Amino acid sequence: MKHLLALAALPLLFATPAHAQDKVDPAALRATVEKLVSFGTRHTLSDPDHPTRGIGAARRWTANEFERISASCGNCIQVANLARTFEGPRAPDGVNVVNVLGFQKGRDPNRVVIVMGHIDSRVSDVMNFTADSPGANDDASGVALVIEAARILSKEQFDATIIYAALSGEEQGLWGATLLAETAKERGWVVSAALNNDMVGNTVGQNGKRISDRVRVFSEGIRAVETLEQHRKRRGDGGEDDGPSRALAKAIAEVSEDTKGIDVFVNRRPDRFGRGGDHEAFLRLGYPAVRFTVAAENYDQQHQDLRTENGRVYGDTIDKMDFPYMARIVQLNLNAIRRFASAPAVPNNVRMDGAVSTDTTVKWEAAPGAAGYRIHWRRNNAQNWTDHRDVPANTTELVLKDIVVDDHFVGVSSLSKDGAESIVAFAGRGQ
Ligand SMILES: [Zn+2]
Repeated sequence: MKHLLALAALPLLFATPAHAQDKVDPAALRATVEKLVSFGTRHTLSDPDHPTRGIGAARRWTANEFERISASCGNCIQVANLARTFEGPRAPDGVNVVNVLGFQKGRDPNRVVIVMGHIDSRVSDVMNFTADSPGANDDASGVALVIEAARILSKEQFDATIIYAALSGEEQGLWGATLLAETAKERGWVVSAALNNDMVGNTVGQNGKRISDRVRVFSEGIRAVETLEQHRKRRGDGGEDDGPSRALAKAIAEVSEDTKGIDVFVNRRPDRFGRGGDHEAFLRLGYPAVRFTVAAENYDQQHQDLRTENGRVYGDTIDKMDFPYMARIVQLNLNAIRRFASAPAVPNNVRMDGAVSTDTTVKWEAAPGAAGYRIHWRRNNAQNWTDHRDVPANTTELVLKDIVVDDHFVGVSSLSKDGAESIVAFAGRGQ
């Protein structure tokens, strides 16, 4: 069915749902981080079996937290360990990498939204698995965010399955994330969003300046998985700022607009300069993934032996954390998860045509369960979408009258009947 924009004098089809303000409890976040720090070290090579010290004890405690949350929602979360032995320069004898996962089944068990942090920690020497390694900000904060998200979202029902993930082996080579991303691929999950929270609890940077109203969201523009042929096509289409990961970051920036007290810095890099994180394992397999990280980093509090030198204190300790700030990042994640877990899958094969014409024709494949679609456009000297038009579910083609294809970018998202919107898929030339 074809809709001409000029004829589509439709009433507003879909309202934008208001974002909830949850009772995210900074004291609960602090208690979780304190507990994780209490295991001494959570290094991936530390003792997996010791009852109170090391990564094994931390993982068992985290699994128990998921179980406890599940018990209060009629077993709505299934807890599972996902493990594989990895070997590499940072684990020459091999190590069993164990991820602790909680699955909150959605109406569509095949489509998933993943929220993750890494449970492992390290000090100055990445091979030192015995020294105290509190890893409060890096990344007990991420794990505490995941547990708090489970506690709050377990009271609701979603279209997509939410996977709460405490990953291991990040510091040894993104191994736990690699395992989870490969599992997604093997099981054919449709990943609507993978949200990596790695260092979300500190506000005072290396220069002493405090930033407590902003979080960085890192994303790739051009996809790591692109072939040279796809790359050439994207070059021709001009889609460098509209890959799925970048579209996800832009959507999170939208979500932040009505999340209290926190702005999103859409950081147009896959990660910090020359550094990496767990979301990259997902990007390598083509999934939309981003990393949330504090606005201001303090390098004396990252990957450091606990010590004082010439009056300078080193170490990733809990006293440096800002839990009200972290609570705002939790709220942002909650609002983002709600949106992506409520929205249908993003439409596939979005393409446009209109060369040597004054109109642009957009086409897409129907997305399962979509109640409608939102066609976005902007002049191609702008970074964010400026205009949109909603169409009903039986539509897979729209003519944008007097929109010259040469001068505009176009994208299409899916909408649920309540107006929850997927990320926007960029329209290029057909495949
Ligand atoms: Zn980290």
